[in-house]
Parts: sequence; C-alpha cells; structure tokens
Amino acid sequence: MNKTIPIVNAKAPAGVSTAIEGDGMGCHAGGEKMLAAAKASGKSEVLAQYAKDYPIDPKAGPHDQPQSMCPAFGSLRVGLRMRRTATILSGSACCVYGLTFTSHFYGARRSVGYVPFNSESLVTGKLFEDIREAVYKEADPAKYDAIVIINLCVPTASGVPLQLLPKDINGVRIIGIDVPGFGVPTHAEAKDVLAGAMLKFAREEALAGPVQAPRTGRSDKPTITLIGEMFPADPVIIGRMLEPMGLAAGPVVPTREWRELYAALDCAAVGAIHPFYTASIREFEAAGRPIVGSAPVGHDGTEAWLQAIGNAANVPQAQIDMVKNIMLPAIKAGLARMPIKGRITLSGYEGSELLVARLLVESGADLRYVGTACPRTVWSEPDCQWLEAHGVHVQYRASLEQDLAAMHEWNPDLAIGTTPVVQAAKELSIPGLYFTNLISARPLMGPAGAGSLAQVINAAIGNKSRFDEMKAFFGEAGTGHATGVWESAQGVPQDRPEFKAETRRLLEKQAKKRKAEAMI
Ligand code: SF4
Repeated sequence: MNKTIPIVNAKAPAGVSTAIEGDGMGCHAGGEKMLAAAKASGKSEVLAQYAKDYPIDPKAGPHDQPQSMCPAFGSLRVGLRMRRTATILSGSACCVYGLTFTSHFYGARRSVGYVPFNSESLVTGKLFEDIREAVYKEADPAKYDAIVIINLCVPTASGVPLQLLPKDINGVRIIGIDVPGFGVPTHAEAKDVLAGAMLKFAREEALAGPVQAPRTGRSDKPTITLIGEMFPADPVIIGRMLEPMGLAAGPVVPTREWRELYAALDCAAVGAIHPFYTASIREFEAAGRPIVGSAPVGHDGTEAWLQAIGNAANVPQAQIDMVKNIMLPAIKAGLARMPIKGRITLSGYEGSELLVARLLVESGADLRYVGTACPRTVWSEPDCQWLEAHGVHVQYRASLEQDLAAMHEWNPDLAIGTTPVVQAAKELSIPGLYFTNLISARPLMGPAGAGSLAQVINAAIGNKSRFDEMKAFFGEAGTGHATGVWESAQGVPQDRPEFKAETRRLLEKQAKKRKAEAMI
C-alpha cells in the first residue's frame, strides 16, 4: 500500500527570514551572506571579536585564503578530549554527520550530542528551547563538570542565543559558543574559541572564591603553562629542561580536565608554543601572566626560549646559563648526528609549521617555503624572523594555491603538506609526507626533537626512484578526464573542452552581473 508522508507547510512569520532559506545555506552559500545574516540576528559582537582574534585579509577572494576543514571540528575535538565534559552540536544534519564522522575517525570514543532543527523550529525560537531542554537533561553533576554546546553555521547565522543559557545547572557549567565557518577561518583557531571560553569561565570562578586543586596536587615549583596540542612527550621534555631552573611544566592548554584550567591560570609564565591562541592568551594576560612566544626547537630556538622563559619567571642568569650549557651542546650533537639532505617545501594547518621549519633548517635541509593556514601573531614573530634570515619564504594564511605554487617553483626533493599538496606532489613524482600524521606525531622540543625528523624525512626523500618507476610503468593511463580504470568495450571517457568553456563563460557572466548589482 502506498503511504504518503504529509508535508506540512511551515511558513515563517512575516518579516522573519532564516539562514536556511533559499538554496539551503552551508559551506557553499558564500560567507558574506551568512555573515550578514548573523550580524542582523544579533551576533555582531561575537563576530567582531572573531574578526579581531582571527584576522583574514578582507580583500582575499575564496582562493586567496586557507581552505580549512569545517572549523567547528577544532572546538568539538577540544570538548571531546576533556574528562567529564559533554559536547553538543547545534547545526544542520549534514554538518553534524561530517563532524561526528571525523571525530570518530580520530578516535573520539565519546558520543557527540546533537539537537536537530528544521526551518520551523529555527524561526519560531523552538530550537533554542530544544537546546535548553537538552542541556537541562544532560546536566548531571555526577557525570559532568561542563557541557559545551556549539552553534554551527546555520544557528549562528540565525542568531540562536546560546548566551541566554544559564551559566550553571546543578553545578554543571554550561559553555555556549558560536563556531561558524564564516567567522572562524581554521579548525586550529576554533580550538582557541573553546579553550578561551573555558579559561574565561575558570578565571571568573577563581576570582569569585576557592577552586579545585589539580588531581595530582599543586606543584611546589613555579609552573610554565604550555599552549597548543603537542606530541605527548614534548611537555615532559620541556619539564626536564625547566627543572634545573627551579621551574616545572604546567598544564597544556587545551586542558584535558576542567580543574586543570585553574592550574593553567596559576602559573609563573605562559609558553605560547602554538602562536594562534589569541583568546586564551587574552585570559592569561587578564590574569597578569607574562607570555613567551616561540618554542624550544633546535639549538637557536631552545637558547632563545630558555632565556625568555627564565627572564619571564625571574630566574637568575647563572641558572639559565647552567641549563643552556647542558642542553645546547646535546641538541647540537643530536642535529649533527642525524642530518637532513635535500630541498623541502613545507605547509600545514596545525600552527606548528614554523617550529618544524626551524628544526629542518638546523638539521641541514634546504628549506625554501613554509606555509601555515594560521595568521601572523606576535608569538610566532621570532620564528618568522629567524626563518626569513635563513632564506625561507614564510607564508601566513597560506592557501592551497600558494602551497602548490611553491612546490612547482622549487621542485623539491620532498613536499611536506596537507592531503591535496601531498597528492599533487606524488602525481609529479615528488615524494610527499603528510604534516599532520607523520610530522606532528614526533617530538620536536629540546634534545628529543633534535634529529627526530631525520629518519622519516631521509627515508621519504630516498623513495624518489620508486615514484619515477611507477610513473614510467603507468605512463599517462588514467589521468585527467580519463581518471580511473576503463574497459575499452565500454569506452574511455571523452574530454569535452567545449562544455567546460561554456560553463566557464556562464560563471564569468554571472560574476560580472553580481558585481554590477553590488555597485548599484
Ligand atoms: S558548520 Fe562546518 S560543515 Fe557546516 S556549513 Fe559551517 S563550515 Fe560547513
């Protein structure tokens, strides 16, 4: 028997528009439309703050800026990695599907909450009521310290007012944040959106009265809080370098537990190892903590960082020199033992690209280009200056096109980069290494970092002949419009340059029309 599903027209009240009208806005809708909708819906203040914290060139076209995965993944990942924290998404089902998939691909082992909506619940305000209900239902103090609720693009553009949620339900903190793709340029910076919001909350709690001590108790030494997701051994190595100066490594931000936030704020100084955590740094500055940029990478980086940290924490010069005298010769020896030979281009979106670049140069690599999706900040300025002084082109807010252009220009022995860069490199028979999986997953700091990259990089460079052999074997089979494996009986796809030319002509015409309309 045929069954018809009744579709009820849910008309928006007169004068009320939603961000999901028209063609169904999403990543493809054009940032300007979403941004304008969000501003009109009461999100101007938060978007103005994001524009300051995570600046992009206002004149940049869609291909002159980094191409990021959905930025909300950064916030989601930070929430999912925290103990006793529930993370709930509010957004289109397709976005939530992608984000949930990616989180589990990266081993979240935790459920992602979701409050679904449709155009009716969005325009009538019911979505906000649904979110409130979900948050009340989840707020069990036996299970959670905090609940994070993240507005994705459409609810942000529609002004869903997470700021109206209670700050605390039954002792469970409620952190509502907007993380739209049109306001936060990269997933790296979205980590800062949540880390900063949590630090702000924790700082206000600490100002209001006594707060929980860290699980392992307070350190008996002044601590250095470290900002940025690092290889797990790196904070330990940094801790060993700090010890002779009478200091200890504090928590790493983003933290893995709520009470670590207090310990992070309770530090002598902060090492902004990843330099794009602008909102988090604002909270540390509000707490009166000095901030030190760059990181202890390679000989020169470690020398400068130990000095800057020692100065910030008022360590006597003799003690700083003593540590340098132990560490620096060991680093130099490690770099000399494991040299890197070959020309390299490097790009990524983690925020540690400039640090890796320094290490490569000190290892002897002929590095010509480093591109990072993150913005220029004062905290990476020492690295940028050092690299430029060593003849390396540094590109902040690098787009895929810039990364690829660098690779074509320098014809390197190895291209380290994001998935599309590595794919393009391999097509050209250039060995490639994924930054995130293969480079970020190694220690970089102090003596352990010296030489840690050489093995994987030299092995990859040594693979060049295998690429040449493969290229020679496959020839031009299955490239361009004929990509894939085709049986001659079914025919190989034919290229249709005339169709492509016609589409290009129509798009150009449309773009001209839009421009003319915008000028009226
Ligand atoms: S939430 Fe993410 S996936 Fe969804 S439209 Fe925005 S940027 Fe795209």
